[in-house]
Amino acid sequence: MTKSNGLFERRKNLVSNGVGVFVESTVAEAKGAIITDLDGKKYIDLGGGIGVVNAGHCPEKVVEAIKNQADKLLHSCFHISSYELYVDLCEKLVELFPHGNKTKVMLTNTGAESVENAIKIARQATKRPAVICFSDAFHGRSMMGMSLTSKVNYKLNCGPFVPEIYRLDFPNFYHKGYGRSEEEFSMHELESLEYFTSRYVDVNSVAAIIIEPVQGEGGFNVAPKAYMQGLRRFCDKHGIMLIFDEVQSGFCRTGKWAAYQHYDVLPDLSTWAKSMGSGMPIGCVIGKEEVMDAAQAGTIGGTYLGNPVCCAAALATIELMEEEKLNDRAMVIGSRVSNRFKEMANWAEAIGDIRGLGAMTAMEFVHDKQTKAPNAEVCDALVRKCLDRGVILLKAGSSKNIIRILSPLVITDEELDRALDIIETSLREVIEEKI
Ligand code: PMP
Repeated sequence: MTKSNGLFERRKNLVSNGVGVFVESTVAEAKGAIITDLDGKKYIDLGGGIGVVNAGHCPEKVVEAIKNQADKLLHSCFHISSYELYVDLCEKLVELFPHGNKTKVMLTNTGAESVENAIKIARQATKRPAVICFSDAFHGRSMMGMSLTSKVNYKLNCGPFVPEIYRLDFPNFYHKGYGRSEEEFSMHELESLEYFTSRYVDVNSVAAIIIEPVQGEGGFNVAPKAYMQGLRRFCDKHGIMLIFDEVQSGFCRTGKWAAYQHYDVLPDLSTWAKSMGSGMPIGCVIGKEEVMDAAQAGTIGGTYLGNPVCCAAALATIELMEEEKLNDRAMVIGSRVSNRFKEMANWAEAIGDIRGLGAMTAMEFVHDKQTKAPNAEVCDALVRKCLDRGVILLKAGSSKNIIRILSPLVITDEELDRALDIIETSLREVIEEKI
C-alpha cells in the first residue's frame, strides 16, 4: 500500500465523511507551484488550495515573517492587548482598498467569518433585516454563509436557514444572454431587480446586496460591468449596503488587488480571506468609515481574529505580491491559459465557454453548444486523468461541469505550459473514449 492510500484509510476511520474529499491527493510539502505527496510524487498545483496561495506555497519571505513573529508573540487577543501588527495590516489594507473618503477594517479568521460580520455591520448600519444574494453564490459554511450560499449540496439537511434572505438569478451572460449585447442583458437583469423588490421583498427592509464580482465556486461567472454599475445606483437610491465578496477573487487573482477595481464601482463593504495570508487563517471586512462604525462595540470580534502571526504572514504576503508584481503576472497567466483553452475549444465540442478575469480562468463543459446542458462526466474524467499525470485541477459550478484555474501566480511559464499540455493530452483521451 502506498503512503497516500494508507493516509486515506486512516482518514476514513477517523475523520467525519462530512469533511468532503474534492481531490484524492495527499501532501507532504509544497513550494511555489509544486506539491509533493506522501510518496514523493510531484504535482503542478492549478488549484492553489482553493485560491489561497496566489503568492505561492511557502514563500520564503512569508515563512520567515511567521517564524520571527512566533518567537515574539503568538496571541494576546486584540480586545485585551492591542498590538502594532494588527494596525499595520489595517493601514496597508486601507491603502490598497479605499472604500471612499475614509475606510476602516476589521480582521477575521476566515472567509465565512468575513461574510458573517459584513452582514452584521450592514444590518446595524441600516437597521434593516433583509439581504439579497444570488444563484450559484458561495459565501461560506457558517449558518449565515450557508444561508447565502446557493448550491444545495453544500447545505443538505442543515436548515432551517437564516430568515430574511432573498435570492436573485446571478447575471450569467453565457447562459442567459440569448444573443443580446452585454449592456442590453444587464439592463434587463436590473429591471428584474426592480420587479423583485416590488413583489418579493420591501426595498426599504433590505440591508444589503451581497455579490461576488466573479463567482468562485459558481464557476467563474463574471458579473457584467453595466450590471455592477446599475447595482451601485440601485443601492444608492434605496440606502442599501452593497457588499462585494472578494474572498476568492481578491489579492491579484484577477490582475488587480480587487476584482471590483475592474468595474469602476466601490462597495460599501467588502469581504476578504484566502490569499491574504498565504494559507494562514486570516481575512477581513473593509468598509466605509461611517458604515464600519455603525457596529456597536462588542457586536463584532472574537478571540483569535487578527492573530499576530497571521498578521505578519499577511503583511509579508502583500509585500511579496507588490515586489513580484503579481497583478501583472496574473494578466500574463490568464491570457496564456485562455489562449490554450481557446485552441482546445477548436477541436473539443464539449467546451461550451471559456471565460474569466485575469488569472481567474475557467472552461465550461456542455453536452450540446445550443442547449448548454452541463457535461459533468467529461469534467470529472479530465480531473482524474490530470491527477494521474501530476496536475491538480479543481472543478466548480452548481453542475460540477466547470474547470477553474487558481494556480499560484508565481508558477513558472515552463510549469504552466507543462500543466496545459497535460490538460490537452488528457482532454483528447477523454473525448476519444467518449466519456
Ligand atoms: N466567499 C467566497 C467567495 C468563497 O469562495 C469562499 C470559500 N470558497 C468563502 C466565502 C468562504 O471562505 P472560508 O472557506 O474561508 O470560510
